[in-house]
This record gives sequence, C-alpha cells and structure tokens, in this order.
Amino acid sequence: MKLNVAEQLKLAGKAAHADLSVAFEPLDYSGRIVAFAAPLQLKVDYVYDGDGFHVKGRLDTVLASECALCGRSFEEPFGFSFSERFMKNPSEEDECYEYRGEELDLNRMVNDLIFLNLPLSSVCDEACKGLCPVCGCNLNMARCSCAQDGLKTPFLSLGTLLNDDKEV
Ligand SMILES: [Zn+2]
Ligand SMILES: [Zn+2]
Repeated sequence: MKLNVAEQLKLAGKAAHADLSVAFEPLDYSGRIVAFAAPLQLKVDYVYDGDGFHVKGRLDTVLASECALCGRSFEEPFGFSFSERFMKNPSEEDECYEYRGEELDLNRMVNDLIFLNLPLSSVCDEACKGLCPVCGCNLNMARCSCAQDGLKTPFLSLGTLLNDDKEV
C-alpha cells in the first residue's frame, strides 16, 4: 500500500487523492487475530506542506468476526476516519510516520489504525442470547432445561458452578 509522491514533493501545497482497494491478510495483534471478509477500501487525501505530508481519509472494510457471546462467525462492517502526518526524518517527539524517498508506505499506519479502532468485543446480533453458562448450549438455537430452571442470574449460575466443583 504505497503512494508515489514524486510529483507532490515538487509541488508543495498541491493536494492529491487516491482510492485504494487492497485485500489484506489476517493481522495478529499479540494473539488477537483480526481477519477480513472484504478488501480494505482506503480513500486518502494527501498534501506536502514543504516539511512533511498531511494524510487524511477514511478506511472501510468488513471484519470476519466471532461473536463474543455465542461464538458464531459473522461479517461485521468496520470503518473509521483518520488524520496522520508523515515526515522524512521524524524524531521521537514528532509522533508521526516516516517516509523514504518518493514513497509513502501506508502499511504501518493502516495496521496501527485498525488496532486502535477495533471494537472491544463483537456481538453477532443485539438480540444474541449467547451460550447457556451451565450446559453451554447455544440459546439462539435451543432451549435447555437449565435455563428453564431459572438459572438466569449470575449468582445462581455461580452457585451451580461452585456445587459442580465440590462434586469433582
Ligand atoms: Zn451471538
Ligand atoms: Zn443449559
């Protein structure tokens, strides 16, 4: 995901725009795997101000997510806007990305932004009932007898779990 900026470097202040569509391999953020069900659609406006590049735009894609409640795989629309800066020889304090030669390499920025904007947890449907905490059956598909026994509050479920422990 690279932008050739040879022209912009000669013409400071001239804005440019790019539309990119890139299929992305799953990302591994220290064990949290993020997979994509569609290419990344990236719209970028970039301008060289004589010192560095101002890069802003929007990223949209679809995540291949797993429901935090029931474990079902589902497709989750995901998108966000961003505004970042690229400089040639940034120092630690600059808090921006580095570009080399006549190219802006957007990969690191995109990786960082996806991680920063990820939903904390993904749920397949607002009405998802999840799994029964006692028998583990999917309550969207089935009704188990434990749910019918009124073990719906966390306290009662916990009590049941503790009793199970004693029996072991
Ligand atoms: Zn679910
Ligand atoms: Zn159950």
